[in-house]
Amino acid sequence: MTTVPLLDLKLQYATIRQEIQTAINRVCDSQYFILGPEVQALEEELAAYCRTKFALGVSSGTDALLVALMAINLQPGDEVITTPYTFFATAGSIARLGAKAVFADIDTKTFNIDPAHIEARITPRTRAIIPVHLYGQCADMDPIMDIAERHSLYVIEDAAQAIGAEYKGRRAGGIGHIGCFSFFPSKNLGAFGDGGAVTTNDPDLATQMKILRVHGSEPKYYHQFVGGNFRLDALQAAVVRVKLKYLDGWTAGRQHNAQRYNNLFAKLGLTDAPDKHDALLILPFESGQSGQYAHRVDATAPFANYRHIYNQYVLRVGQKRDELRAFLTERKIGTEIYYPVPLHLQKCFTDWGYCAGNYPASEAAAEQTIALPIYPELTEEQLQTVVEAIATFYDGLE
Ligand SMILES: *Cc1c(COP(=O)(O)O)cnc(C)c1O
Repeated sequence: MTTVPLLDLKLQYATIRQEIQTAINRVCDSQYFILGPEVQALEEELAAYCRTKFALGVSSGTDALLVALMAINLQPGDEVITTPYTFFATAGSIARLGAKAVFADIDTKTFNIDPAHIEARITPRTRAIIPVHLYGQCADMDPIMDIAERHSLYVIEDAAQAIGAEYKGRRAGGIGHIGCFSFFPSKNLGAFGDGGAVTTNDPDLATQMKILRVHGSEPKYYHQFVGGNFRLDALQAAVVRVKLKYLDGWTAGRQHNAQRYNNLFAKLGLTDAPDKHDALLILPFESGQSGQYAHRVDATAPFANYRHIYNQYVLRVGQKRDELRAFLTERKIGTEIYYPVPLHLQKCFTDWGYCAGNYPASEAAAEQTIALPIYPELTEEQLQTVVEAIATFYDGLE
């Protein structure tokens, strides 16, 4: 029986083993472990890749968000508008500074924050907007930047799932004031432990984040600000530098797999447009197509100026999502639910006063989405196994 894990990093490692070990040995020989030349080299390469003036290595994607919010001097009682349908850290970082996440619901098709819901939520306390480029596809940034400019707000992109994603020719992390990235091992560009980065084109924000990364000290042992230990270590930087060279090839592999899934699912006749909520299967929507909906069956080229990097390939299923997942687990096909509880319904945020029904699109997504294996090393046989198992499940329902 063909098994299909959700992710298998051993396969990727096998292809770059020697190079990684050489890089790690270089760090071991240098005995220079925190920041230093390895991190600096990565920062230059990342800035070039993200097409930003500055990039800074930090300790995780979560700390990237935290240091970004500290750099804009977010204060207790301030408000930040973001999506409730994201990983916890997006709102957790806001809460840790004593500020409040004011949620705006998502666009049903892309699962990203819907710009149409943002403006009504702006108050005199609003300081920033955090769009999340969920699953590897950029949020609709033009209207978000326009709203931010009119209200003098910062835009901090949570690009933890979206390194290399493009929106109208611009790269994730270079559109807003600050971009936040994660090198968590399962992200598209993963370290061998925790790591992350912030990007910006603003020299003042870059300087501020650099100071906050080392306890707010500048010069050393003189503190004008309270920062934290948000440093990236050299071993992680060395690993990420090796992997960055392969990232575009891996992204192409993910895009190819997404296209194969789309084609295989389309042949089953179970799919429908993203606005049909009760359809059995709704394929991932790709922004940038002018038509009604955009799973690009048999398309060969990506949409001009848009690039979805498929950190996740996420289906919306109209019926029996949890039963489908159990059925696939039984057949040794890995899946995940990103995310089962929208953040406005998390217990730790009860004080913010949200309740069920506040964000219907996010709540529906939490009940209906399922992520399938999409890593670049998947074989054609594995892709077919996944699609056939899903077809078998829905055949059995009829
Ligand atoms: C992974 C992730 C983070 C946090 O990154 P870590 O490196 O795990 O701290 C933040 N936001 C989103 C959307 C993520 O997917």
